[in-house]
Amino acid sequence: MGNLVKEHCLDCTHLSIQQDGEEYTIGDPVLGEFIRVPDVAADVVRGFDGEKTIEEVKESVEAKYGEEVDVLDFAETLLEMGLILKINGVVLNEEVDREVNPRLQKAGSILFSKPLMMFYTLSAVAAVFLIAYSPSLFPSFRDVFLFESVGLSAILILLTISAATIIHEFAHVLAANRLGVKTKVQLNLRMIFLVAETDMSGLWSREKKERYTPYLAGMAWDGVMILACLLVQLFVPIAFIVSFAQMVTFFLLFGVISQFVIFLRTDMYFVLINWVNTSALHEHSLVLLQKIFLRKRQDEWQRLAPHEKKHAKWFSVLYMFGGAVATFLFVYFQILPSLYGLQQAFENMTQHTFTNLYFWDGILVIVALLIQVAAWLIGLRTARQERQSNQAVSA
Ligand SMILES: [Zn+2]
Repeated sequence: MGNLVKEHCLDCTHLSIQQDGEEYTIGDPVLGEFIRVPDVAADVVRGFDGEKTIEEVKESVEAKYGEEVDVLDFAETLLEMGLILKINGVVLNEEVDREVNPRLQKAGSILFSKPLMMFYTLSAVAAVFLIAYSPSLFPSFRDVFLFESVGLSAILILLTISAATIIHEFAHVLAANRLGVKTKVQLNLRMIFLVAETDMSGLWSREKKERYTPYLAGMAWDGVMILACLLVQLFVPIAFIVSFAQMVTFFLLFGVISQFVIFLRTDMYFVLINWVNTSALHEHSLVLLQKIFLRKRQDEWQRLAPHEKKHAKWFSVLYMFGGAVATFLFVYFQILPSLYGLQQAFENMTQHTFTNLYFWDGILVIVALLIQVAAWLIGLRTARQERQSNQAVSA
């Protein structure tokens, strides 16, 4: 603290300044560091052009707003957050790479051009109509085991899920890079589901309406892949290829339906908070749900503004809908296939002796399932610890 003096010239021209409702989101799209500020702070940041001193910026915003503004203190905050590019012409973080990969940007502008976006939308609509028209196309959990060897099926499932995940995340990466926004793909745990996610926080530097395409890009490609798999099931006469398409459809549908469990902060969650301009929606909805079901946090709810209450109400309804969807997903797409796999493995083990490969195939499946259960329990413990430490902080 206290490194800056009022004679310093600051350069914040690399920061993006976006109006979001009545406030402004300013930040560094490359570092993914953003803050919400009132309009006076946005004017201060615009003033840091690398030529004016802190004192000069202070004078001009105070003249505009007719009140005293502590520009030096705000500048210290920006410095702590790493949001200042240069002080007196000297670059602070030279090692930060600010260029997006031109190949990714080029590919993104081709694959997320207007005509192709139209094609993705039509594909999704067509897929929904096909399943509605012919419900037998909706995959059953029995479809996921392609081989008599459950172990071999499990390996194919793992490869399929990995490939589908990479394609989905790559869509986000391309659509964000098309707008000149750098991305980072990472693994994370949400409740019981292990998820891959693309960090697109740099999108806050773009206009609100431009953010929808990168948020929806993953689902757009999922939709095309689902349609392709459905068409294979309808028109390809080769049994194994049809079975494979059914298995892929199963996992793609699981992915797309999961997006509607918005409390897991899925792609649909980001679409919604972008639409209503508030990142506090999640917190406000939790306050409402806890007030209704646990009779807690009454005071906090009373303090919210009327429009915040309104958003929180309909968002809570979506949360409960998401809860129902999550239960269905967990039972239909995870419990049922696991039980079915276990039953097959158990049959293989009881019908064969340990000199037979099928016996060991069964052992392999059971070991794999036990590892998954263990991973879940570890995730559960982490989530509980996080919740406890959060409560300790807020109490
Ligand atoms: Zn996604």
